[in-house]
Amino acid sequence: MSRNADESRAERIRAILETEGPAVSANASLLNEKRYDAIDSFPAYDELRSEARGIKEDAIAQLPELIDRVTEAVEDNGGTVYLAADAADANAYVESVAADRGVDSVVKSKSMTTEEIEVNDHLESREIDVWETDLGEFVLQVADEAPSHLVGPAMHKSRAEIAALFNGHFEPEEPLETAEELTRFARDYLGERIREADMGMTGANFVLAESGTIVLVTNEGNARKSAVTPDTHVAVAGVEKLLPSVAELEPFVQLIARAATGQPIAQYVSMLSPPTESPTLDFESDELGGGDREFHLVLLDNGRFDLREDDELRETLYCIRCGACANSCANFQSVGGHAFGGETYTGGIATGWEAGVHGAESVAEFNDLCTGCTRCVNACPVEIDIPWINTVVRDRLNRGQDPDRFDHLVDGLLPDEEAPGFTLQKRLFGNFESLARVGSATAPVSNRLASSRPVRAVLERAVGIDRRRELPTFARRTLIDWFDARGGSRVAPADATREAVVYPDTYTNYLSPERGKATVRALESLGVAVRVPPVGESGRAPLSQGMVDTARARASDVYGSLAEHVDAGRDVVVIEPSDHAMIHREYERLLPAASARRLRESSYDVMEYVYGLLENGADADALRAGDGEAVAYHGHCQGRTLGTDAYAVAVLERLGYDVRTSDVECCGMAGSFGYKRAYYELSVDVGEPLADSFADAETVLASGTSCGEQLEALLERPARHPIEHVGPQ
Ligand code: SF4
Repeated sequence: MSRNADESRAERIRAILETEGPAVSANASLLNEKRYDAIDSFPAYDELRSEARGIKEDAIAQLPELIDRVTEAVEDNGGTVYLAADAADANAYVESVAADRGVDSVVKSKSMTTEEIEVNDHLESREIDVWETDLGEFVLQVADEAPSHLVGPAMHKSRAEIAALFNGHFEPEEPLETAEELTRFARDYLGERIREADMGMTGANFVLAESGTIVLVTNEGNARKSAVTPDTHVAVAGVEKLLPSVAELEPFVQLIARAATGQPIAQYVSMLSPPTESPTLDFESDELGGGDREFHLVLLDNGRFDLREDDELRETLYCIRCGACANSCANFQSVGGHAFGGETYTGGIATGWEAGVHGAESVAEFNDLCTGCTRCVNACPVEIDIPWINTVVRDRLNRGQDPDRFDHLVDGLLPDEEAPGFTLQKRLFGNFESLARVGSATAPVSNRLASSRPVRAVLERAVGIDRRRELPTFARRTLIDWFDARGGSRVAPADATREAVVYPDTYTNYLSPERGKATVRALESLGVAVRVPPVGESGRAPLSQGMVDTARARASDVYGSLAEHVDAGRDVVVIEPSDHAMIHREYERLLPAASARRLRESSYDVMEYVYGLLENGADADALRAGDGEAVAYHGHCQGRTLGTDAYAVAVLERLGYDVRTSDVECCGMAGSFGYKRAYYELSVDVGEPLADSFADAETVLASGTSCGEQLEALLERPARHPIEHVGPQ
């Protein structure tokens, strides 16, 4: 990214943090908490997620047949189905229906698909009045703004801002103030519009092919009113909304409201199989009218069939648009969808939708806001791997870039697998292992140089590394060198309960060997024979920059180095949670299935491994006892997704520590993200709630390198890995 682009992005984010940030943060965090509560009290949640995922996979696989089936069913009911190729086609069809029926005014319920085709603008350009009847959408219509969230479109506005907006726009006799007054005003105002409207438009959360049924899930009841009050109902739905029949609907009804708002079920689940023969309504005479009803189902392609053919992005089509991925995202909680979103869609899954329906260029501005923390993965009710979608699109975007003007300086020096043209920033962060090797070999000179003002100025200008962020310090002696120099393991294999390889990840080996030494000592004290062989970087660094080919090559090298140990029955112990998560999640995408599985089944997070040893009889007295010492522990986001952070808490508690944890989703540092000039302020904003929650803690522990760096910067005191705290000195 150029210096100017960096600065304008930072400026835009800064402005949103100041204006929309507080309301988004409060509302997205609240929905996130409610989701956790709802799921905690619903044991069937995970089982239903898998069931829903399977139904969606099957439905998308048989999409052409479902379209035929729904067409037949809707026509049998007296309606019409139109398969629209793109937005222009859909809009032209809706316009033709309106023209045939002499429509002057339209009422709409909330629908992201109609936002996608911008049908309001199209109809208004034909002098047809369009009214949004969802309260949030109505607020945005008055404010002339785009939605900032899939479910809560006006989530970025406070009650006071909405009151000021309504009072200024509508000039009511008594100023509106409370949420009740605002809602009542909107309901009365929109009730009039609904009664007067000639045509109602809705989206559809689901469309049941067998019966031609439109399923609408809302909390306001406005969708059903908009659909049935006017004589003509047009429903616009992406083709991916099709399910075979009502038999497949139940898991989605159980999941969607829990994931979206934490409700067991939404206030209104309307199932309409529009009977065009039922009587129309006449509000003037208060009698049933004698007019004709019409129903039109517009099924929208607009890139969806291409997404269906895309092996990497197909799962975007399984999305039920609950917004949980946005609510669980630390960056989204800070800035909302006006920064973390594209032309139409917002949050983590926006990357898949935008790339599919508007093209990859509409993703470029916000794709980097997905840091791959994976907190959305468990939140998604249809098990979509949202971070992987973001990574794949990032990789594709990288390939479309013009060569960086500094690229020739590093091309050939950096051992990645990518074609020239990546930004210098991405290549340097993606090849961090090479930099760390040189930095360590030349320390302390490298550290002095890297912290000098002229070098920081160059790094900021040429690479986009924010000078306010302290750079990590390279250790002169690596973990591997230390281990070799001490003569290897102090526990002979013949005397050991187990044999383990400590994976010398880049951060531990070159930057923080102390936590590696603590790991070696702790495992030995628990009876394990340890090895620290030279093994390359896991691929996490290049993957985070969207360098998938390089990550695949790194993964393959790691497997090549560790396979002999796995064959020999040795366990692989990983200290850095992001590398452990790489082996457990992303290697499935990067390695042959059997290799990924073998490595996954032999690899453990270090605290998980210690927990297992203690559970199997190792002597806890070998580790440092807590004796009631209070510690604040932040588990790494990717470790939390895998559930391994719980082992650190369990070990600390077993050793007698009084452990406090934070429920923030991510520290905000996220590897290289917090170093980037464009995102430094966002990174700090995300990290502050975590730092605040630990502000009074004397001892702060964090399992991830980045988490530790962020906490140290914000709290101005050390934050060590738990193994350093409990390991024998
Ligand atoms: S990707 Fe999953 S969590 Fe995100 S909106 Fe879609 S269904 Fe919901």
